[in-house]
Amino acid sequence: MNLVLMGLPGAGKGTQAERIVEKYGIPHISTGDMFRAAIKEETALGLEAKSFMDKGELVPDEVTIGIVRERLGKPDCEKGFLLDGFPRTVAQADALENILSDLSRKIDYVINIDVDQEILMERLTGRRICKSCGATYHLVFNPPTKEGECDRCGGELYQREDDNEATVKNRLDVNIKQTKPLLDFYENKGYLRNINGQQEIGKVFTDLDSLLRGLQ
Ligand SMILES: [Zn+2]
Repeated sequence: MNLVLMGLPGAGKGTQAERIVEKYGIPHISTGDMFRAAIKEETALGLEAKSFMDKGELVPDEVTIGIVRERLGKPDCEKGFLLDGFPRTVAQADALENILSDLSRKIDYVINIDVDQEILMERLTGRRICKSCGATYHLVFNPPTKEGECDRCGGELYQREDDNEATVKNRLDVNIKQTKPLLDFYENKGYLRNINGQQEIGKVFTDLDSLLRGLQ
């Protein structure tokens, strides 16, 4: 079960990743975790990655790809893996094809959790935080009883700068632009499966599950 998981911010990728890992027992491999582990184990590539990160520079592709290669070669990946956050570019996707081919494997599915941009906007801009106690609310999913007021302490609710419409819209636009060539690449390879992420969380997983059950 060799999987790549894709989805825009707010699509619910993290939640679905957790459920896939729990049910199928394959490791969830995110870029951040991979870097942290390589640095902690002080592998040559890990130390190299760290030297760039310490300078506040981007880790070059060859280092990242090397770290992915080492990670996918580990015994816990024998039954499969769920890659999350890698690849980000077509060049990285090409490199992943090579890595897997060296391991005599291939991607089974690239799962894209698909949600309309307007709905993502609603999900991502709805967060409100209490100025006094820090409790968090969501206008759609977890609204306060009284508008603008904290249920817990009566404090005033505010929206973080990161959650405002212009910032979120920009973040989504950048993501969509970056992701498009990658989705096309995988579509052409025949790996891409779109899952409707606009349904209730449990139903999204049911759809995913019926896709993945076919691989066992
Ligand atoms: Zn409060």
